[in-house]
Amino acid sequence: MKRVLITGGAGFLGSHLCERLLAEGHDVLCVDNFFTGTKDNIAHLLGDPHFELMRHDITFQLYVEVDEIYNLACPASPIHYQFDPVQTTKTSVHGAINMLGLAKRTKAKILQASTSEVYGDPEVHPQTEDYRGSVNTMGPRACYDEGKRCAETLFFDYQRQHGLNIRIARIFNTYGPRMHPDDGRVVSNFIVQALKGKPITIYGEGTQTRSFCYVDDLIEGLIRLMNAPDTVNSPVNLGNPNECTIRELAERIIEMTGSDAPMEARPLPVDDPTQRCPDIGLARQALGWEPAVQLEDGLQRTITYFQGIL
Ligand code: NAD
Ligand code: UDP
Repeated sequence: MKRVLITGGAGFLGSHLCERLLAEGHDVLCVDNFFTGTKDNIAHLLGDPHFELMRHDITFQLYVEVDEIYNLACPASPIHYQFDPVQTTKTSVHGAINMLGLAKRTKAKILQASTSEVYGDPEVHPQTEDYRGSVNTMGPRACYDEGKRCAETLFFDYQRQHGLNIRIARIFNTYGPRMHPDDGRVVSNFIVQALKGKPITIYGEGTQTRSFCYVDDLIEGLIRLMNAPDTVNSPVNLGNPNECTIRELAERIIEMTGSDAPMEARPLPVDDPTQRCPDIGLARQALGWEPAVQLEDGLQRTITYFQGIL
């Protein structure tokens, strides 16, 4: 049994990770400032004697004793991370410094939830881990993209300078139950709009692509990465390589929900990446991991979740 700290544990991915690690018999400390996460996401875990919840902002120092750290704290949807961009960069950068300092003192292994956004609007397709990315440092997405890039740099510097045992997951678009209904991400937006019979908002032509990974697959990948041999310390892409256009996603959700909601064109947000798809060769080889849940199946579970809460 390990003492595991999950920052951002009350968020979408964090709450699933808390659940999974508790089920494996570990002691879980969930730290969250509830900026985008909610107590509802982890309410069902509060009675578990191996679960502890702490309200804390990781841009401030934290003194606890743990064996492993999953650093997930950071708003992930564009509308949330652009709401207070300075705080987003602080969370990524100061938060990483604080969590790396904690890992150094406690000799804990530490995993960073990085992102496909480190590749920016990519010129290499699909994206491999050795692609260095194309990020506009001056754009509205940069607070997130550059914050996450700087966090990766800090992880490697702490590894070289202080001998830390690090893991870096570059997470691609992930969806599933407990996505925030108002967080503006495409899967939750389209499902909520379809269920309410409101126009499905297609940004731009809808020809931009994304590759959607179901949350259970992603959590499995994170745990495998944390438990992988210490030689696996380069960043690892985790995502589903099944790519589709945003328009195709909309059509599928309309069909699955039986909605008669129309599609409505909206302006494409600044710096919106035109294509995104992970090369998961490294994850396959180093972790023996690949996604198992088909889009149809994952969408159905997510639609059922949103039907329940709306
Ligand atoms: P989320 O917004 O649901 O969860 C983030 C959590 O972090 C929330 O509970 C929020 O309250 C908390 N948080 C934010 N700032 C904090 C701070 N300063 N101190 C403490 N807690 C703070 O997002 P998510 O989708 O669960 O993403 C989790 C992590 O995975 C993020 O780091 C995100 O960048 C990364 N990621 C997610 C995706 C995805 O598709 N879901 C893709 C790439 C990367
Ligand atoms: N998108 C859209 N309609 C929406 C929300 C998003 O067309 O209501 C598009 C968005 O422009 C982007 C893609 O869907 O091209 C994925 O957006 P999301 O915010 O989910 O994630 P990210 O851009 O970070 O991949």
